[in-house]
Amino acid sequence: MIHSINVRTRARVDLVDITSEVEGLVKKSGIKDGICYVYVPHTTAGITINEGADPSVKRDIIHSLERLVPRDAGYTHLEGNSDAHIKSSLVGASAFVLIEQGRLQLGTWQAIFFCEFDGPRHRRVAVKITGD
Ligand code: ZN
Repeated sequence: MIHSINVRTRARVDLVDITSEVEGLVKKSGIKDGICYVYVPHTTAGITINEGADPSVKRDIIHSLERLVPRDAGYTHLEGNSDAHIKSSLVGASAFVLIEQGRLQLGTWQAIFFCEFDGPRHRRVAVKITGD
């Protein structure tokens, strides 16, 4: 079974902390030991795991990606959102977290972020939880 998390993003580029939603699905699954896969079925979004405690880290990630991949840089893709596609590929479309004793084994400061690169819009995150 694949679970869905709906995400409403608020800006063109935005990192949304979805850790508590993913944790809720793990709890509901009843799986004590296994793996939780988090995947975005979108070409201009991504998933990353990074610091969730200090919001300046999220801002620095967003600003650094903007510097690395400017919005206009002579791209050929006619839709005009090539920067979003490139950021999606840099960040990646998935992540996984190990589950032990029914809990995600994230580090103390780690959070799971949905990464929006061409918002604001409604997005879907797919979550698969498997036991070992
Ligand atoms: Zn496009």
